[in-house]
Amino acid sequence: MAESMKGLHRSHRCTEVSNKNIGEIVTVMGWVQKSRNKGGIIFVDLRDRSGLLQIIFEEGDVGSEGFAKAERLRSEFVIAVVGRVEARSGAVNENLKTGDIEIRATDIRILSEADTPPFPIEEDSKTKEELRLKYRYLDLRRPDLQKNIILRSKVANLTRQFLTEEGFLEIETPMLTKSTPEGARDYLVPSRVHPGNFYALPQSPQLFKQLLMCSGYDRYFQIAKCFRDEDLRADRQPEFTQIDMELSFVDVDDVLDVNERLLQKMFKESIGVDIPLPIQRMSWAEAMERFGSDKPDLRFGMELKNVSEIVKNCGFGVFTTALENGGSVRGINAEGQAGMPRKKIDAFVDFAKDFGAKGLAYLAINEDGSYKSSFAKFMTEEELDALVKALDGKPGDLLFFAADEDEVVFAVLGNLRLEIAKNLGLLNKNEYKFLWVTEFPLLEYSKEDGRYKAVHHPFTMPMEEDLELLDTQPGKVRAKAYDIVLNGTEIGGGSVRIHQSSIQEKMFEVLGFTKEDAHERFGFLLDAFKYGVPPHAGLAYGLDRLIMLMAQEDSIRDVIAFPKVKDASCLMTEAPNIVDAIQLEELKIAIVEDEEK
Ligand code: ASP
Repeated sequence: MAESMKGLHRSHRCTEVSNKNIGEIVTVMGWVQKSRNKGGIIFVDLRDRSGLLQIIFEEGDVGSEGFAKAERLRSEFVIAVVGRVEARSGAVNENLKTGDIEIRATDIRILSEADTPPFPIEEDSKTKEELRLKYRYLDLRRPDLQKNIILRSKVANLTRQFLTEEGFLEIETPMLTKSTPEGARDYLVPSRVHPGNFYALPQSPQLFKQLLMCSGYDRYFQIAKCFRDEDLRADRQPEFTQIDMELSFVDVDDVLDVNERLLQKMFKESIGVDIPLPIQRMSWAEAMERFGSDKPDLRFGMELKNVSEIVKNCGFGVFTTALENGGSVRGINAEGQAGMPRKKIDAFVDFAKDFGAKGLAYLAINEDGSYKSSFAKFMTEEELDALVKALDGKPGDLLFFAADEDEVVFAVLGNLRLEIAKNLGLLNKNEYKFLWVTEFPLLEYSKEDGRYKAVHHPFTMPMEEDLELLDTQPGKVRAKAYDIVLNGTEIGGGSVRIHQSSIQEKMFEVLGFTKEDAHERFGFLLDAFKYGVPPHAGLAYGLDRLIMLMAQEDSIRDVIAFPKVKDASCLMTEAPNIVDAIQLEELKIAIVEDEEK
């Protein structure tokens, strides 16, 4: 039978006991990791969220009743132990924080018994993720997950501390609201009181945080749950967490400054990583040109080089056709890879095709300086030499070239660059390379919708020097928008907002919103702007991804206590699920059967 806590007080977590406590009586509580009965003496590894501690039971210390209890212990029983701290009698265990001590038990209570768990509670679990997610409460007992969840709490705490010191106020914004402007599909919540009407769960606190600036709160932050009903990818969650902020009376530099200091504190005080400030900045155009990506991984080089000029009159139709169609020819240098087997090169060519390439040209520079290439026969020796020179090619290097419209060339080489680096083991998880990418395009043309769409959102401020282009070449306008990138992953982004109504109206016009459309969607924000709006700007981090990188995990599910799987369901609670007919009736909702099913 499970015993009570009456009269007991835990004095230490397992690993809070150390050799400094030798001779003291302590009370520890936790789960039995392992119990070994060596006849007359029982060794138990006791586990709590801090780690493991060895307990020793002998009848002479714990009494016959206590010893009988110790004999019954099995994995995951919850126990309380009172005992004396002693130096380890056996060999010291270097792998344990408490490896040089043990507790000689004088009293034990079994607080709870346990069935055999469906998988062992251990670090680096070999158990399939589905099973672990079904029993997430057991999975969460594993030390690696506990470490991540504890790190997450620490980072949230440091964020609160730092932003509060910087004069930010933590303010909550509603979960039951109207559609927000981030452009994904909304999660809807039906209203019982207003049948046929729906709340939307927020995709971000965007509109509310801008309203808070109108209300004079000046500096806001929130660790906010956000919901986006997107087609799910492996690294996405339907609900996720942002560190969200907004500041008044600021421009780009102010936002970047406070955020780099936040990141510096966060990384130093949680995982001991130093971030030298200022963090490097690069315009979007430069990032694309040099890395083929708006979130370049700066842990390695392999930069893109534009060789269009060199090949514009060459005899290789693939190159010249691309140029005639307004595209470009660019290359990267996989240094030292000239000896790459043909099979592997072909695999990279196939990889490039996934990003829209029709093919991928390559040139290997042999150790004797001669070339082996898929296109040498179409080019003169001088042209080949010039290509090699443009890419700083040395004997032993392997060059890849893509020719197409810029967008495709960037996608192909940007991703190929990463794939090669991954293959060559150039991505060191212990290295943290930050980058601000700034001056994003304001608008991008959607062929599908036949109109321009906001790259960030419709409240993002164009760069003042580009305002004139809004009428003539909207696609060329740069925005006061910025992303913070860590090792090739975007961990946050934001913008300066439009606070002049004439610019906002122009923006809506370019986006093809009528006055009515705009009013219908964002009327309250536009109205608020009529009553005195300070210039303001903000940023939001994806907390899940940030923690994933800090914890050096590959999946955001490993840093979320109760994550959902790819199809947006929860394997433990089995949400989403059907509801009682009466609930639907109250909501005046009828389910239409899917005819295909
Ligand atoms: N609301 C934006 C987002 O969720 C971030 C921002 O502009 O502050 O991406």
